[in-house]
Amino acid sequence: MARDQVTIGGCPKCGGAQMTCKCNQFRSDELRIDSWEHKCPDCGYRETTAFRSDEPESIADSVDPTVCPYCRRSVNL
Ligand SMILES: [Zn+2]
Ligand SMILES: [Zn+2]
Repeated sequence: MARDQVTIGGCPKCGGAQMTCKCNQFRSDELRIDSWEHKCPDCGYRETTAFRSDEPESIADSVDPTVCPYCRRSVNL
């Protein structure tokens, strides 16, 4: 499991500068999971999304699982 976390700030709830964008990328032969989390330690705001290759309906045609659905940053670990 590879992970990448950056502090991006700009919490939509409180404007806090400590909000983080975290990405976990899991790869195996038959399964691939990209999960994203935005979390603010100041107000507790949290938003998560996971894209799984074994749930094709969770990935729309226009969606790139390596791009954060919230802030659009791209991560390839
Ligand atoms: Zn906040
Ligand atoms: Zn993000």
